[in-house]
Amino acid sequence: MESAADRLSEVRRKIADAAREAGRAADDVTLVAVGKTFPADAIRPVLAAGQRVFGENKVQEAVEKWPGLRVDHPDVTLHLIGPLQSNKVKDAVATFDVIETVDRDKIARRIAHEMAEQGRTLQLFIQVNTGEEAQKAGVVPAEADGFIARCREEHGLAIAGLMCIPPADQLPAPHFALLAKIAARNGVAGLSMGMSADYETAVRFGATHVRVGSAIFGARDYG
Ligand SMILES: *Cc1c(COP(=O)(O)O)cnc(C)c1O
Repeated sequence: MESAADRLSEVRRKIADAAREAGRAADDVTLVAVGKTFPADAIRPVLAAGQRVFGENKVQEAVEKWPGLRVDHPDVTLHLIGPLQSNKVKDAVATFDVIETVDRDKIARRIAHEMAEQGRTLQLFIQVNTGEEAQKAGVVPAEADGFIARCREEHGLAIAGLMCIPPADQLPAPHFALLAKIAARNGVAGLSMGMSADYETAVRFGATHVRVGSAIFGARDYG
């Protein structure tokens, strides 16, 4: 049976191939291994295989899971990829290195406050709801330029990238292209896009970060 470490190296190889075909360097793309719903014991083999960048979608789950794993691997970089509630910002700033889901002024303001309070500087991505889906977090495309400007000017935040989750029932490519266009016109360098089903496409469209869960860890029961 294929192990998580085997699947990890397969994903890495596919990212490198897609990057090369797109005329990009493989190390221009950071693989964020999404361990949500999987216990620490399922994550350890992936750490042992050398993976150091991980994603979690729930603050509470990360708070419970990662301090223990970090004891042996203090060089891990942890990304928050799920929606952030304002009462969780303090824990999120303390636990994560990157927040990919900044999407409203209240959250941006609290993140700025907590980073100053805790003396921590996180990398911040703005989530864009490219499909304008009612149930999905993120700023809609028409409001993205204004929100990026307010993050920079009013909240004093450096914006490292943009993130999107395309609608499940649509081709992802137009969403990746739209996210890349919004980033380019705002001078934003990072693009977090692509999941297990479409990370190679995302790499072709310029992804700097792909968030891959089930292709590494296997199918999830929930989440
Ligand atoms: C769960 C999740 C992923 C990973 O999804 P897979 O299809 O398992 O690769 C990526 N991004 C976000 C925001 C997620 O919640």
